[in-house]
Amino acid sequence: MDFDFTDEQKRFREEVQDFLKSELEQGSFDPRQNSMGRGFSQEFSRKMARKGWIGLTWPKEYGGQGRSYMDRLILMEEMLRAQAPIAFHFLTDRQVGPALIHFGSEELKREFLPRIIEAEISFCLCFSEPDAGSDLASVRTTAVEEGDYYLVNGQKLWTSMGHRADYGWLLAKTNPDSNLPDHKTLSEFILDMKAPGVTVQPLINIAEVHSFNEVFLDDVRIPKKYLVGKQDKGFDQIMEQVVYERAGIERLMQNYTVREHLLEYVKTTKKNGKYLWEDPTIRNVISTLETEFNIGRLLCYSVAWTIDQGKVPNYEASVCKVFCTQYEKRLSDIATQIMGLYGQLLPGSKWAPYDGVAAESYLWSPSYTLQGGTVEILKNIIALRGLKLQTK
Ligand SMILES: Cc1cc2nc3c(=O)[nH]c(=O)nc-3n(C[C@H](O)[C@H](O)[C@H](O)COP(=O)(O)OP(=O)(O)OC[C@H]3O[C@@H](n4cnc5c(N)ncnc54)[C@H](O)[C@@H]3O)c2cc1C
Repeated sequence: MDFDFTDEQKRFREEVQDFLKSELEQGSFDPRQNSMGRGFSQEFSRKMARKGWIGLTWPKEYGGQGRSYMDRLILMEEMLRAQAPIAFHFLTDRQVGPALIHFGSEELKREFLPRIIEAEISFCLCFSEPDAGSDLASVRTTAVEEGDYYLVNGQKLWTSMGHRADYGWLLAKTNPDSNLPDHKTLSEFILDMKAPGVTVQPLINIAEVHSFNEVFLDDVRIPKKYLVGKQDKGFDQIMEQVVYERAGIERLMQNYTVREHLLEYVKTTKKNGKYLWEDPTIRNVISTLETEFNIGRLLCYSVAWTIDQGKVPNYEASVCKVFCTQYEKRLSDIATQIMGLYGQLLPGSKWAPYDGVAAESYLWSPSYTLQGGTVEILKNIIALRGLKLQTK
């Protein structure tokens, strides 16, 4: 076991840092606008594309670089630390491309992979519905075969970036009248978000940001060639994909700047004539948070390493996401407590420390432990699949 990075990996990290420094100096992005991972800039994504940093881990035959997941982790870690705007290509790079490479027809690969890798198109995920979230097999949106297309009707919910994406990765019921169990009746499709019958309605979250949406599908025609993989096998395909959604270091660093600002705050702020760091209670919570951050980071590294060994980190990714997202939630909570009443002020207030980053993160924090699989569901995966507690 070697806890150090290779020289090549160290050089790659430096290359990414140099790129980000130069982009920041040129004013090509404002980190403050991208907090909580929501910076969406096709221009910035195109710059990353020119560096070969979209599809970094994809096979070379599909335009990727064939690099390791550890390299991708290094890239992501630096992007998140700098609060770079990567939301345009983030989903396509992490999930859509790999799923297409794994399950898609050659025709779909040829149509979509080059455009993803060049940051020409973005995707959103159309999985969840009003009555299907954790229990994803209960999806009720139907896709019925008619001639050379599927006729799609239903409603999707919590569709992040649905208002900006060109395409949706859709899960729908292809065999609605069969007696088969729900999970054997679902299929995956590529949905053109501009197709007739697709209506996207904004949902404003508690932080007053338009990040996710409701998507209504009324008699939408999806040409048959946009079925991904095998009909009725969509649920099994998704179960393989979500592992990669849960595995990344983004689950640890969505509110990374809160950590930095909190450290700065306790170093520089005085209360009753003493710096906050002089209070042993403050030192105790800060060092506990720091311990958790380091454990989370090692968990993320170990998941990347597991993928690089050719294994699917089902249980490992669940452990990682449970731990990291709960850390992020605690960080937001403790930061608002330590910053006191001022820490509860939102961006825009002149009295808010660090332009309200702690309060903003506090409002986003319930979503950390929900999106991409809730803590309770992941704990069941850890217990039943990982520890094999299910004996019948
Ligand atoms: C910020 C954010 C962005 C999102 N973006 C997208 C997106 O782009 N596309 C998309 O399709 N979806 C998206 N989602 C939806 C997300 O996948 C769901 O919220 C998640 O799967 C939970 O489903 P639910 O909200 O229906 O809650 P439910 O499944 O109704 O769960 C409610 C509560 O009950 C608990 N629970 C449910 N079942 C069990 C069980 N068997 N055992 C123990 N506890 C249980 C859950 O843990 C949770 O606490 C997003 C969600 C958030 C918060």
